[in-house]
Amino acid sequence: MAETKYIFVTGGVVSSLGKGIISASIGKLLQARGYNITIQKFDPYINIDPGTLNPYEHGECYVTVDGMETDLDLGHYERFTGIQTTKANSLTTGRIYKAVIDKERRGDYLGKTIQVVPHITDEIKRNVKLLGKKFHYDFVITEIGGTIGDIESAPFMEAIRQLKWELGRDALNVHLTYVPYLKAAGELKTKPTQHSVKELQSVGIQPDILVLRTEMHLDENVRKKVAAFCNVDFDCVFESEDLPSIYEVPVNMQNQGLDAAILKKVGFEIGEKPTLGPWKAFIERRKKAQNTVNIGLVGKYDLQDAYKSIRESLSHAGTYNDYKVEINFINSENITEQNVADQLAGQDGIVVCPGFGQRGIEGKIIAAHYTRTHDIPTFGICLGMQMMVIEFARNVLGYQDANSREMDEKTPHNVIDIMEEQKNISNMGGTMRLGAYECVLKQNSRVFDIYHKEHIQERHRHRYEFNNDYQKEYEKNGMMCVGHNPESDLVEIVEIPGLKWYIGTQYHPEYQSTVLRPHPLFVDFVKTAIANKK
Ligand code: GLN
Repeated sequence: MAETKYIFVTGGVVSSLGKGIISASIGKLLQARGYNITIQKFDPYINIDPGTLNPYEHGECYVTVDGMETDLDLGHYERFTGIQTTKANSLTTGRIYKAVIDKERRGDYLGKTIQVVPHITDEIKRNVKLLGKKFHYDFVITEIGGTIGDIESAPFMEAIRQLKWELGRDALNVHLTYVPYLKAAGELKTKPTQHSVKELQSVGIQPDILVLRTEMHLDENVRKKVAAFCNVDFDCVFESEDLPSIYEVPVNMQNQGLDAAILKKVGFEIGEKPTLGPWKAFIERRKKAQNTVNIGLVGKYDLQDAYKSIRESLSHAGTYNDYKVEINFINSENITEQNVADQLAGQDGIVVCPGFGQRGIEGKIIAAHYTRTHDIPTFGICLGMQMMVIEFARNVLGYQDANSREMDEKTPHNVIDIMEEQKNISNMGGTMRLGAYECVLKQNSRVFDIYHKEHIQERHRHRYEFNNDYQKEYEKNGMMCVGHNPESDLVEIVEIPGLKWYIGTQYHPEYQSTVLRPHPLFVDFVKTAIANKK
């Protein structure tokens, strides 16, 4: 068996270049050639994980099957490759330091001074190699968050430098930069790329492959110039022009031969170019979709990345229904009894979004009330499901003071309650109910018809739950509890059968929708929204 090859993806010039998409595309292309791959993300911040971060900081928090709260790029990795990630695929500076400090306290380094080099860099290297060694991947792709030159990414760069030196041909660096177009000069500028590569070289890393992000097509001369100034082979300089959809990036990269260049660099035979059949069929289908369905996202984070996986899941579902999904963010803080009809006007379906804390919840409850009483397809996710439950208690069961204990600790009608095992937890980090849990569906329910099976596994991220004391009362009044955890009996899904689509899930189905395996709940929800439009 050949040794594991390591690909390090770094970025320069500016942030938000889409390193995650390029990493996912490389993974996808190598996977299509039959290689066993995995993609890992290093984030240079000190938080142990992004679980305690506000979505305004780095966007949505993604959750792996084994319950790690991670950067949203892991969502791209899974959506592109269909391969599940785990704890080992997501590391932060905080986790690296914690591991080193824990070892120091245990006495593992007795007698030694603990330093960034070699102890922190060794720990980084250990975590990179661990994936290759333990799981025998052909390729481990490691994306380094941040931009070259950042103080905080320095230890990661040093670790890459050492690994490249030790591993020789088995390791390579793909560096992403930006080539701006200056309107006034009418020119594309390569200087920032030259500077970025110089910065990388100054820490001892020679990039093997350059991917130039650009809004305009780069002709051969621009790429030749970059190759010459940066000591990179001309056939290893690629352009990544803005495309209508992120899902076109792998095809664009394959057309230019990015995967072939990687194989050549690591000494693998290039072989035949994979057809990417199903992937291209997905893109074609997407392009053909002419009609639009409007989905309103009722949430409180007015930021694209905050509900990334939900947006992508809806978009996959649109394609599989041959529709374009127009996603309209509706800030729940602005929704009142008086304006709810206007606020939701024109939406063919509504998603009541997940979240934490008091802000914006009354608007979510008002929206859930409006869509229930006007039979507008509604999908409540996690906090969204909890708001559907509270709305039903207030307006159907007659408990005007019903609430979640999260919002009102003393509520007499705690239809959403803190989970038993959560009661004594005082640490906030990584202590929620996290990761995949089994759920058993009731046979004669809508969700059973959608999933076509009784046993499902979905990922969770919450502390509060439906209060089982009220289950009978809900069911008597028309809101059915149709999915339960087989061990704890926790209610994971509610639905109102008489309505077009009114389903709430305590779990997050959006973490499992991929390009080639769209999530059945999203597909069915969008299908119903389309029918509702007609
Ligand atoms: N805040 C709610 C809870 O902790 C819902 C969490 C979520 O929407 N992810 O139960």
